[in-house]
Amino acid sequence: MKRISFLIKPASALCNMRCRYCFYADVSEHREVKTHGIMNDETMRALIDRALGLGEDAEITFAFQGGEPTCAGLDYFERFVAYVQDRRARQTVHFALQTNGYLVDDAWAAFFAEHDFLVGVSLDGYRDLHDWLRPDAEGKGTYRRVMNAIRKLRDHGAAFNILTVLTAQLAKHPQKLYKFYQREHLDYVQLIPCLPGLDDAEDEFSLTPELLSSFYKTFFRLWAEEFQHGTYRSVTLFDNLIPMFAGVHPQQCGMLGSCSPQFVVESTGDVYPCDFYVLDQYLLGNVKTNSLEELAASPALKTFLTEPRRPCSACSDCPFEGICHRNCKRLNIAYYRSDWCGYRDFLEDAAPAMERIARALARRR
Ligand code: SF4
Ligand code: SF4
Repeated sequence: MKRISFLIKPASALCNMRCRYCFYADVSEHREVKTHGIMNDETMRALIDRALGLGEDAEITFAFQGGEPTCAGLDYFERFVAYVQDRRARQTVHFALQTNGYLVDDAWAAFFAEHDFLVGVSLDGYRDLHDWLRPDAEGKGTYRRVMNAIRKLRDHGAAFNILTVLTAQLAKHPQKLYKFYQREHLDYVQLIPCLPGLDDAEDEFSLTPELLSSFYKTFFRLWAEEFQHGTYRSVTLFDNLIPMFAGVHPQQCGMLGSCSPQFVVESTGDVYPCDFYVLDQYLLGNVKTNSLEELAASPALKTFLTEPRRPCSACSDCPFEGICHRNCKRLNIAYYRSDWCGYRDFLEDAAPAMERIARALARRR
């Protein structure tokens, strides 16, 4: 069976919030054209036709991101889903969407539930920090709106998980964050390191290797305690990392030190290999003019895939080399510096418990 995922930016870099650390605002600043507006129907249909053209046995994921994808309007998504339903034969199609939650009301939540969207909601933990880090365009905090969006998704039975950006500020409070997830019954969470801009080594929000290590030592201890008491809280890093101690291949891109190119589709139909690299020099082609085979054979993709990862002197005698390989080439700036590795420091602390838990999970399968 052929499997393919598209990461679609229907509203390009448009967004109705002004998060202090926004990475896509930085990426778009590095392009000649910063934002391309809403995807038109011609591009939408070209993309869907390319995807469905992969074959009747294909499994296709359309994942929407931004900027903020809901800025494209609910009617855009209704037309997208209707065209897929109209054109599809026996292909399996999944939908996912990452949102800041700002616009999610009953109508959106009902739509997501009806069409089985997996919705990722961005929430940077407890109220005071979230409000400070993620204000709206008028500078007002958005915690109340996002928690309301979560309530709507629950009310309508839509599947959702939480995406939290692990900033330097949040990383100082692993206990407070863990208790917040417990109190609010947020059982599926993904934490992604806050990264400095493409031109910077560090800034006030970005996660340092020291903070990554100290945060995860405590956060994992709390997670493991909960696990001992019979609760499995899904944390994407642990979901992938722990089974690796029992030889299971991870799902998450970059966890074995190699890139799995994604088809990131900008609102113009332009395609790039990775959400971190939606940059002019990595343009693979356009869904309106290029077949999927042509996009996959593009020289820009070859360049992207063969770029070396940054060196780290701690790798030479690292016992975790086999489950790391310097990880994702963009995210690893939060993992290690050339002379010290925060990921290794964390793993040295957590590995004995992870090995035990990996064995316990393997017995359950
Ligand atoms: S840069 Fe990271 S996220 Fe992007 S394709 Fe490579 S490993 Fe995956
Ligand atoms: S954990 Fe750190 S030191 Fe070990 S292989 Fe990965 S990057 Fe290198």
